[in-house]
Amino acid sequence: MHFVELLNNKIASSGTSINQSGTTTSHKNQDPSEHATLSKMRMSQLSNQYFAQLNIDPNTWTNIPKDEREQLSEYFPEVLKTVNKQIGDGGDTIKYLYELTDGSLIESVIMKYYDEDFSDSINKGSTDGRSVPNNNNSTAGRSVPNKNNSANDKDVSKKESRATLCISCQVGCAMACPFCATGKLGLKRNLSLPELTEQIRLAKLEGVTNIVFMGMGEPTQNLKNIEAAVRAADKFGIFAKNITISTVGIPDGINELADFSVYEKFPFRLAISLHAGTNLTRDKLIPINKKYPIDEVLDAAFAFFKKTTRRVSIEYLLAKGVNDTEKEAYNLAKVLNRRGSNWAHVNIIPLNEVEGSDYFPSDKATQDVFINALKSKGIFVTVRESRGSDIDGACGQLASKPV
Ligand code: SF4
Repeated sequence: MHFVELLNNKIASSGTSINQSGTTTSHKNQDPSEHATLSKMRMSQLSNQYFAQLNIDPNTWTNIPKDEREQLSEYFPEVLKTVNKQIGDGGDTIKYLYELTDGSLIESVIMKYYDEDFSDSINKGSTDGRSVPNNNNSTAGRSVPNKNNSANDKDVSKKESRATLCISCQVGCAMACPFCATGKLGLKRNLSLPELTEQIRLAKLEGVTNIVFMGMGEPTQNLKNIEAAVRAADKFGIFAKNITISTVGIPDGINELADFSVYEKFPFRLAISLHAGTNLTRDKLIPINKKYPIDEVLDAAFAFFKKTTRRVSIEYLLAKGVNDTEKEAYNLAKVLNRRGSNWAHVNIIPLNEVEGSDYFPSDKATQDVFINALKSKGIFVTVRESRGSDIDGACGQLASKPV
């Protein structure tokens, strides 16, 4: 059993359930004798090594007697092996390819941001640090910094202000969105809690400050481990206000996330991949929309807002000729405004092309018309800066390609 599972089970046995998913060891099938082998002090020391020191090398645990270190190392098996590390955006985006113990491959991406990049988005309430408000004064409707292609050429005077980890939660994904490389893989399995926390620990070593659950997989399909990972992130010092959980829109999952947020006081943000204002259009982009149509998804999202008082981010991928007309924008504004004002903001995502896909990005003029139509209806709009497209690490491009 991995230490994070042991810790969770310990807490569970004291009344709070952290990990109940069948995909990892749950407190229901744990060996109770495991608890007895570690004293409260050892648990605290291991917790310090893992969450504070980010250190899983027992040989360096000088605060623990030498003869115990090897045995304790059994609680920290290698669950992720780094197979490849790619650098993009002049050093500001890093994509990791990890191999899991069963040979499965997953990817996570780290994106670094600087004060001058996102001062506006911080002031105006961006969801995850990846979005910037639409600004008609900038050339692309957003304040995108000047990027160089070489890490060596980077402006060394730039001060990194945050680094966001885009975490994967499943091997593949069952949702089969046609514009997404992960969706083409199908679902192999959920990631275990240790596989989630190891992505966080390794990213913490790179100075990560924020997490977005927007990598491979649909978080609501691995909810108990996602919730446990939010608790673990808190122990790593990445607090919930810096976490965004993105879902394709599963109403029961959204409701559970709202309850989890309220009851355990984790003020993370919710993002909904809506991508359309009508079912006719959304059916083409999000197959699960046939089961959970827009009204059901937005009712759940609005209930999340009412329960948590945190504005929901409506993610909208602009696909050329599919969902990018002015009429689509008015439809979107209508379904949002029907439920109230200022409860959601729309985050426009320029589409990243995926090999073999029939979906292409909208041009700048079309994007501007779309945004202005939303704004004319009182909708707050941001545009996400695309990151990592040069290393297939941008939204919708994660596919765990072997190297
Ligand atoms: S967009 Fe998200 S939900 Fe859809 S297939 Fe890709 S990973 Fe799954």
